[in-house]
Amino acid sequence: MRHLAWRQRVLAPLLAACAGLAGAQQPAATGASAQAHEQRIVFPASVSQGALVLGKVPVGSTVRYAGRELRPTPYGTVVFGVGRDEKGPLALQVRRPDGGTDAVSIAVTPRDWPLERVDGVPPRTVNPPPEIVRRIEREQALVVAARQRDDDRGDFAQPFQWPVRGRISGRFGNARVYNGQPGAGHSGMDIAAPAGTPVKAPAAGVVTFAAPDLYLTGGTLLIDHGHGVSSNFLHLSRIDVKLGDRVQQGQTVAAVGATGRATGPHLHWGMNWFDVRIDPLLVLERAAGNAPVGASSP
Ligand SMILES: [Zn+2]
Repeated sequence: MRHLAWRQRVLAPLLAACAGLAGAQQPAATGASAQAHEQRIVFPASVSQGALVLGKVPVGSTVRYAGRELRPTPYGTVVFGVGRDEKGPLALQVRRPDGGTDAVSIAVTPRDWPLERVDGVPPRTVNPPPEIVRRIEREQALVVAARQRDDDRGDFAQPFQWPVRGRISGRFGNARVYNGQPGAGHSGMDIAAPAGTPVKAPAAGVVTFAAPDLYLTGGTLLIDHGHGVSSNFLHLSRIDVKLGDRVQQGQTVAAVGATGRATGPHLHWGMNWFDVRIDPLLVLERAAGNAPVGASSP
């Protein structure tokens, strides 16, 4: 019986969400249906590896996922990221304001991760000596710490824009081989552009890290979009903003370069949900096509 109740309360809205996502945007609630709409729990039925997922819960709910409490916005929007190697199904627990609980299960669609050979990178960046390894670890720890930030801002719900226009020269997640030596999966997306090309904030946010010359990533800038969602821009030749600055979508924040472990000028754009790396291209595609539930009302 309990199972039946679960089906009625969760599965039906999920199927509705699925239909909604297959079309364009979830229709806005109007008139008499508004209250019922606000009580719905809406998540996609399935998501891709590397996706940024937005869902909707009744205002005042608490949501647990992957050992974290997701803080709903005042409109009931919650957000989380799906890792490159996540197999799923993903399990979320929603506790409604009336105390009732719902379990939500989301399937994960696997992706292919082709091998990508990157030759001609400086050998000192592929096999650094021990003292450099320690420097890299120190620098990475600062970046990891900056990504723990959990602000209330709903900038993440803006439709993201390309930070520079150009050919995609490296895709998120591809298994990388540097100078013939296997490395980790590519942590972001590379966009080819001449050195000095202005880099524009893909969405509004706050600068949480800015350093002109890290060993591996060169000129490095982090912008936090709220609720654990952040962008990082690497190999920059110039940074035009400083720690703590509030930036608007489309604002020039830096310039393309080839600093750190790079074979030529390009923008590396990575995105995270806390420690989970996500694919910026999926975030752009979501902005261009299927607007997520609640995108206009974070
Ligand atoms: Zn890259």
